Amino acid sequence: MQGRRTGTPGFERAADVVATRFHALGLQPAGDAGTFSQRVPLLQATRLAQGARLDVARRDRTIALRFRDHFLTEPGFDAADARVRAPAVFVAQGVSAPDLEHDDFVGLDLHGKIAVVLGGAPAAFDDDRRAFHASREEKLRALAQRGAVGAVFVDTADDEARAPWSAQAANWEQPQLRLRAADGRGIGTFPQLRVVVRVSAAAADLLFDGSGHTAAELAQAAQAGTLKGFALPVTLSLAARSFIAPLDSRNVVARLPGTDPALASQAIVFSAHLDHLGIGAPVAGDAIRNGALDNALGVAIVLETARALRHATPERPLLFVALTAEEQGLLGAQWFVTHPPQPLAADINLDMPMLLVPTRDVVPIGATHSSLQAALEAAAKPLGIAVSPDPFPEEAVFVRSDQFAFVRAGVPALYLDGGVVPGAASAGKKADEHTLPKLAQREFLRRCYHQPCDDASQPIQYQDAARMAALTAALGRRLGDATQPPRWRPGDFFGQLRAVATSSR
Ligand SMILES: [Zn+2]
Repeated sequence: MQGRRTGTPGFERAADVVATRFHALGLQPAGDAGTFSQRVPLLQATRLAQGARLDVARRDRTIALRFRDHFLTEPGFDAADARVRAPAVFVAQGVSAPDLEHDDFVGLDLHGKIAVVLGGAPAAFDDDRRAFHASREEKLRALAQRGAVGAVFVDTADDEARAPWSAQAANWEQPQLRLRAADGRGIGTFPQLRVVVRVSAAAADLLFDGSGHTAAELAQAAQAGTLKGFALPVTLSLAARSFIAPLDSRNVVARLPGTDPALASQAIVFSAHLDHLGIGAPVAGDAIRNGALDNALGVAIVLETARALRHATPERPLLFVALTAEEQGLLGAQWFVTHPPQPLAADINLDMPMLLVPTRDVVPIGATHSSLQAALEAAAKPLGIAVSPDPFPEEAVFVRSDQFAFVRAGVPALYLDGGVVPGAASAGKKADEHTLPKLAQREFLRRCYHQPCDDASQPIQYQDAARMAALTAALGRRLGDATQPPRWRPGDFFGQLRAVATSSR
């Protein structure tokens, strides 16, 4: 399917396959006009290198940073030819978290200024809040709200240890997407920020020169929790060009109807994103990002869940959804939660289960924020499946896949990931065997995540995938018939996000 990139024929073929399977299982279509497809209107921006500019003007001289080596432009969704010139203000990590008594913007005036911002969020925050506040979207929102007219995101050496600059530069031409509103404009594009660029760690000091600070010192202060913003003694000129065009994609949605009409407004969703990254820069002669684990395997588990439940008669409706444009910012999920076929009560999401060595457990990420943890444990026990805590909490993946679009809409969600406890086939091996699945997962993340080698030649543990599907089916039966729908834990940070978002508008 050529890597199933949103908007490509490969994605459309994959969507047809899922719709055909749903139909064959006898599920109801729950998309538009009696079909399995829910149209998702998108705006596509393809960045153009020509005209990209980042000039730094000091009193005595102006230097032009080199495009691609020093800086990359972010896609523009509001103007094909955007430029802005303004004084610069360093805003630390650009984080405002009143509940944690942290505000990087104290004493800084951003009106009409270009914000220079570091990635990440304070190390003192817990993993979930740190990930939430580190997200690009939250930072852009904070900058736009405070009157900034442009933004420069500066990589630290740490950032580039995780996402090398060279890899980002190599795939820079890939078009980017946002949701499209009825008036044809992008949703969540922050038009006040006329140009947004990123600067490599290697070039960071070209911005900070003359400020009395070095980029390394600022990155260290960020680590130590002592970072403060300040006005920079420079005026920046930014320019970026993009080719902007509308594009339509689709979610594929099926329904197993509930038997109790009073519970029709409490649908339980099983979701997995169908899209991946398509064709990119070749690696060892292969350019197709197959996305076998990410997320063909997740879609397969949702299909298998639907197959296992097709003759069930739950009181609540169950929805099965293959989502588009996850890789572009959870866009298909965002559209689905704002245009649901019926009101939603919970989301069970599958994304990239890393089933590479035999295991006997599952990892329900984010479940402890709601009653879904108890429901999952109850469903897992009779099946003899162990439930393990998140082995990589610092990755904070709960805010990084489709379930987070549901969380933002107030819907309790759980991201069901593959296990970390060695299964039968590993028993008898010695040494550090109980860390074996984690080692395999770390190796995958380092080597094949989002790369052409995430393909079907990996040692995918299909029996473990089948067991996950048995578990999601059992969970579907349980949630479908429970007296109460899933609930957030009282006072939970994620449970309150929707209220926070509504009150700050
Ligand atoms: Zn994924």
